[in-house]
Amino acid sequence: MALVVQKFGGSSVADAERVFNVAKIITDCYSLGNDVIVVLSAQGKTTDGLISKAHEINPNPSRREMDVLLSTGEQISVALMAMAIERLGFPVVSLTGWQADIRTDSHYSDARIKKIGLERLRSELDRKNIVIVTGFQGVNKYEDITTLGRGGSDTTAVALAAALKADLCQIYTDVDGVYTADPRIVPKARKLDQITYGEMLELSSMGAKVLHNRSVEIAKVYNIKLEVLSSFTNTPGTLVKEAARNMEKTLVSGVAKDDNISRFALTHLKNEPGIAYKIFSLLAKHNITIDIIIQSIGRDDTKDISFTIPKLLRDQAAAILEEAKDAIGYETMDIDDTVSKISVVGAGMANNPGVAAQTFQALYEADININMISTSEIKISVLIDKKDADKALNAIHDKFFA
Ligand code: ADP
Ligand code: ASP
Ligand code: MG
Repeated sequence: MALVVQKFGGSSVADAERVFNVAKIITDCYSLGNDVIVVLSAQGKTTDGLISKAHEINPNPSRREMDVLLSTGEQISVALMAMAIERLGFPVVSLTGWQADIRTDSHYSDARIKKIGLERLRSELDRKNIVIVTGFQGVNKYEDITTLGRGGSDTTAVALAAALKADLCQIYTDVDGVYTADPRIVPKARKLDQITYGEMLELSSMGAKVLHNRSVEIAKVYNIKLEVLSSFTNTPGTLVKEAARNMEKTLVSGVAKDDNISRFALTHLKNEPGIAYKIFSLLAKHNITIDIIIQSIGRDDTKDISFTIPKLLRDQAAAILEEAKDAIGYETMDIDDTVSKISVVGAGMANNPGVAAQTFQALYEADININMISTSEIKISVLIDKKDADKALNAIHDKFFA
């Protein structure tokens, strides 16, 4: 007998038929003698619908109230699933984040799980119940509801698997595994049988939303056996794991696209020490994460600094920088939302300069201009025009995988 955590995404539970399909997957796992914890997302596009509803009322609602609203989507899913499983004749109980004692920090809309109290979960498992938990939500020290950021149900699942020392965590979604690129954009993408935590972490951090990046972080730290598979087809998925000792490091494991970024440029900065420090310490103080940074020589002994940030933080960053205009001493602030970041990820690229050259060649051959470049041990990212993004993804993918 094993303890299995199964997570099902929004499209997997979109309507009554899908709910019963998933109920069958869950009860089959339970019938094999396993203890089963299930984590669910809101049905279909429910979360997007709730966001639109909020904005009809208030274009700029507080994050606290947004979390109260968005958490309701998951609550609907768990209740319906429990009813479906009841109807199939199995013992079941649904729990909200609060009931499951998922404790988070107080960053509303982007909270991190700090601790999971296991008493209630364990007692439900002891009673032989199938336990259905809301994804994406927890409570903070004020007993307020918090949410974990878009796509956060994956993180709930892996965190529960870690806290309960589960034998396996299965992430069921609408594709049958992790591919070398988003199979909806790149028709030639290939399914990977396995991928290392490190590579998966880079891919999801670079925009491959098949797994929430923080779920991979937790899986890596706690060495959780993680499997990505489809709730629509009965095929083997992708195993995310530590590199096996004899596993050859793959040169490139995948290509990812991130459309949810904005590029800022501050021009005519003084060419003297401390300018970058001023800008980035100010943004860091407000928890604004920076990605690619480029500094270039401007005219008349000045310099320009460009950088990218998540689009969600764009307005906040713009307001902070506007307020500090004189203190920083820039002339203009230009913000571009029509950019995409394409990243090539692979553990084997560290010792292989050819990967960068091939990436740039693919873009050149597709006649796509590069605005910014950044590299790390296991990835190369380029910033390009959003209109070229899908073409670039295919061109780069074909270069490495055709
Ligand atoms: P869920 O609702 O189940 O959480 P998501 O929409 O969050 O599902 O994630 C699944 C989607 O991730 C797929 O439909 C696919 O379009 C996208 N995706 C992006 N990159 C990849 C990749 N490398 N491999 C597989 N799917 C990917
Ligand atoms: N329902 C949330 C979202 O749409 C969480 C999730 O699906 O993982 O982002
Ligand atoms: Mg998701």
